[in-house]
Amino acid sequence: MNEGLDFEHLRPRQRFLNKKRAAEGKPPSVPLSDLFEFARETVAYDTRPILTELMKLGSTPVEGADTFRTRISNRPWYKFFNYGSNGEITWKKEDLGENVALVNRARTKIHEGLRPEATDLLFSKTYFALEETGLGWPSFYGPEEYTPEKSRDDAMLRIFADAYRITPNPYMEEVKTDWKSSHDMLGRGDNRMRRLMTKLFPMQTEKECDDFLHKLKNSLKQTRVAGSIDISLLFFRAADPAGKAWRCDRCGRVHLHEGFGKCTRCGEVLTRPDDLTASVIAHGNFLGRRVKRSVEGNEKLFRLKCEELTGQTSDPAERLQQFKGVFVKEDDESEPEFEWRKLFDTVDLLSVTTTMEVGVDIGSLQAVYQGNMPPQRFNYQQRVGRAGRRGHLRDRDPDPASGARSRHRAGRVRCTGAKHHGNALRREAALPADLRCPPEWLGLLPSPVGGQHDPGLRPDQEHSGRPGGVAEGRRRG
Ligand SMILES: [Zn+2]
Repeated sequence: MNEGLDFEHLRPRQRFLNKKRAAEGKPPSVPLSDLFEFARETVAYDTRPILTELMKLGSTPVEGADTFRTRISNRPWYKFFNYGSNGEITWKKEDLGENVALVNRARTKIHEGLRPEATDLLFSKTYFALEETGLGWPSFYGPEEYTPEKSRDDAMLRIFADAYRITPNPYMEEVKTDWKSSHDMLGRGDNRMRRLMTKLFPMQTEKECDDFLHKLKNSLKQTRVAGSIDISLLFFRAADPAGKAWRCDRCGRVHLHEGFGKCTRCGEVLTRPDDLTASVIAHGNFLGRRVKRSVEGNEKLFRLKCEELTGQTSDPAERLQQFKGVFVKEDDESEPEFEWRKLFDTVDLLSVTTTMEVGVDIGSLQAVYQGNMPPQRFNYQQRVGRAGRRGHLRDRDPDPASGARSRHRAGRVRCTGAKHHGNALRREAALPADLRCPPEWLGLLPSPVGGQHDPGLRPDQEHSGRPGGVAEGRRRG
């Protein structure tokens, strides 16, 4: 009798091990709470991977620019963390007294800020949604065998996300209405949800909705508000690169698992060409391609911290020093603190007005991106000429004759449909028509008006020399 009881208490452990065995060799499924700073109360001082990476990059860990509005008590964010010698980032704990309250406020701010951001990131309705990248999808299910039934539940998850039933999200902390039954879910009269559900389940629309709502509450343990889903209980399920993928013929939405065999946005029956896999989707997607390149090529993450430098900037000299990376250690500052301040305060991108055209030494500038067509060729040359004056040797492509690496700069002009831009492009003489650039200097985008025009990256260009020509580019395009 006693022996039987002993076995009984081991059952959950056995079920867990069985699930784990079934998932062996399959793509991983990771709890979102292992990636984001959810459920802070259950963890000690360590930070989750996403916060760790943000801090290592010297990036603000909350939404928005690093200003007194996004800070706690106007303290720089790095003051709340310790940077361990082996690269781990932990919350500060040795500061007692009033600082404990500040650290707690900082933790709460990150904890509360990250959940709606995670919802937005994973369930975006646009091209930038997680599933569209071909890398994986948000799921109810952890590391266990993925069955067609689970795939259908995850399809419903996406449908619920489209109806803003995942919380917290950027628009609400909690949903305003209960969905206790299909009656609540389908509403009265004609609406988007009813049309979609009728397409997915033409036979027993109400029953299918009721069944899923029941399952949501009872077996999936989503119990906050009826018919809503808590983001912090979900998983990230990685896609098998060779796994099947579908793209809706009608609306173009990507599906990495079969679900109901119908599109989760428009209800169209999904068909797929034999060669459409998650890997093909990832390579065709802006974000997916970058993530893959970063992982496979072992490319480092980088950030782009942008600050303004105009006549309105209160301390232009300081801003310029931050851009050039010139910092002086304070007397009461420890070496690691100084290093972290340098990392956080360094500016990667300066947003400037036309004053930057003349005279100011920006030194480390590599590229110039112009928000408008310059009025004259002179202005164009002046602006592009600010870049590439110092340093920035190219690691690749050394000169075959001498073996020397060359200095480089990049310039880019954004042309809109504005009349001035059109005129400037139409009248080829208006811009550097008298410049004859060797073609290898030009890397052009083909859209002359209404898009971006790239006058090119010129290796080994003398700074007084000839910038890649817009007019020249048009002739080639
Ligand atoms: Zn569709």
